[in-house]
Order: sequence, then structure tokens, then C-alpha cells
Amino acid sequence: MLTKPNILLIYTGGTIGMMKDFETGALKAFNFSKLLQKIPELKQLDCQIETISFEHPIDSSNMNPSMWIRMATIIEENYTKFDGFVVLHGSDTMSYSASALSFMLENLGKPVVFTGSQLPIGDLRTDAKENLITAIQIASLQQKGKPVIHEVCLYFEYKLHRGNRTTKINAEHFNAFTSPNYSPLAESGVHLKVNHHLMLPKNNNKKFIVHKELDDNVVILKIFPGINENVLTSILSIPNLKGMILETYGSGNAPTEEWFLSALKKAIKKGLHIVNVTQCSGGSVNMGQYETSTGLKKIGVISGKDSTTEAAVTKLMYLLGQHVSANVFKTIFETSLRGELS
Ligand code: ASP
Repeated sequence: MLTKPNILLIYTGGTIGMMKDFETGALKAFNFSKLLQKIPELKQLDCQIETISFEHPIDSSNMNPSMWIRMATIIEENYTKFDGFVVLHGSDTMSYSASALSFMLENLGKPVVFTGSQLPIGDLRTDAKENLITAIQIASLQQKGKPVIHEVCLYFEYKLHRGNRTTKINAEHFNAFTSPNYSPLAESGVHLKVNHHLMLPKNNNKKFIVHKELDDNVVILKIFPGINENVLTSILSIPNLKGMILETYGSGNAPTEEWFLSALKKAIKKGLHIVNVTQCSGGSVNMGQYETSTGLKKIGVISGKDSTTEAAVTKLMYLLGQHVSANVFKTIFETSLRGELS
């Protein structure tokens, strides 16, 4: 007899489990046990569900690397006992967390599905029930007793995406996330359509490893017309700064002014890793396509290719935490580690 899949539901906080504060009217996290009381439908699912909650659930605007380590540790400690994991998370920083976890969990052999909602679960028009129920169903998907998904994903409003390809695009619509450069791994309609060919393959022989060293000495700089030398050099002189995500225009273009390129060049020479990602919501960096990116290429700026900013900054923290040596850092960064770039 086949046993039902075991799913661990990890509650970190977010709107999905929030209530209005009577005094201020602001939404704040509430007790997780009450969340489950609100969805009796969960009992009808064809899986066993156990739950674990952050002691103090948070609004995901308070997310940070130590909480990513906490999530990764929960998954590590429960890895053999469960067939899949669903992480309930606020939508504001969900793409950052899904990206970070994708790097921290190497050779993942089971699904880790992030989800949340735009309206609290208790709200009459909530999107939380569909997101939660389908996320659990997806985490339970099995073929011949083995999980179908072996990666960190994000499920929201009828679409399952690779987590490190997503970005939050809307603070109003239920359709809050997009994956600009990679098609959905699954779509939920009358049927659940799984795009098997888009999924990461299972790494049969490799041991599951959890990396818990992240270095947060990084910065994201979005360039804009009018950025001046004082601003750039002040940022580059932040003590102990090790990595910078430079959000450039279009296919990786930036000002060609002498002060701009020479400040970056000096910083790279001193050991700073600078990664070029585009400000555009879709497409890829291609340094050398325009004259306005040739200089960046020459001085050794790393190409983030078609990575999201969320994936790039968490990959930077992860690789810095791994103490990857300077001479291979660029090559490794420009390689797809978890399907985060094409
Ligand atoms: N501010 C909330 C959070 O990210 C928004 C949400 O859950 O959708 O925690």
C-alpha cells in the first residue's frame, strides 16, 4: 500500500496569517494555530500535514539572512522525515527568500514551495486558500513514490515558478509575481499542468548539503541619470564591502564617463565583486553589445546575465560565504548553479 506524502508546513509570517490591529488598523502577524483553524479544507488533502512556526512570525519586510538560515535548518532537520516542504511567507520579500534558499540547499531532492497571499486567510475574498491548498498539492506530487519536484519554487495565483527566477511586481493584484525570463514550472487550471521539461533534474547520487554561511557585506546600486561621483565613491568606500549588484540600463549599459568607470575599476582591483544586472523586468545583460557596456566588460564586471536582482544579490551572499577564490569567482557567478540564469 502506498503511504500518503508527508508535508511540512513552515510558517514564517506574512499577510496570509495576519489580522487587523484593533487600535491602529495595521495588519500584523498572529498565532499560527489559528491559521489552520481557518482552513478546514486542509483535512481533505491526500497527504499528511505537520506544521512548524517561527516563534515570532514576521512581516517579511523584516526578513534577513539569519532567518534564511533558520528556514534552511528546519528543512535540514526534517529532511528525511518529510516528502515536501511548503513555506508560508510574506510576499514582499518572498522572491529573495526563495532565491537564497535555492542556493543554500544544494542537491535538493524534494520540493520546497514558497507561498503566501495578498489578503489575510480570514478575509472573505482571500487568495490565501487557493495558494495554500495548491502549494501543498504541488509539494505532494509523486511519481512511483518519489517527489516530482526537486527544487525551490514559488506558487502564487495559479502559477508555479522556479523561486530564483521570480520577482514581486504588484502590491495590489492577486497575480503578484512574475518570472520574466523563465516559463512556469506548472500551471493550475481545471487540471494541474506540470511542465516536466522545465524542471531541474534530480541529482540521484549527490548528497543533500545545506550551506549556512552567507556574507551580507553587499550592496545594490540602481544607476540613474544624474548619479554623481560623490554618491558612487561613497558607496564604494563602505568599510568591508565585498560585493555590489549594479542595476544598469537595458542590456547592461551604464555611463561611459571617466570618473564612473575608473571608480569601478579601482574597486574591482581592490577585490570588490561587481555584478551587472539589468533594471529591465525582462531580458539579459550582454556586455559589449553597446559601447556603453564595453568599458564595464573590460574592467572585469561580472555578468548577471538574465538573473533577477533577487537571485543575484542572494547568490553574491552565498558565494562570498563560500569564500570562493577571486580568480574563479567571476566564472562561478556566471554559471547557473540552481537554474537561476540561462
Ligand atoms: N507585508 C507583507 C509581508 O511581506 C505582505 C504580504 O504578506 O503579502 O509580510
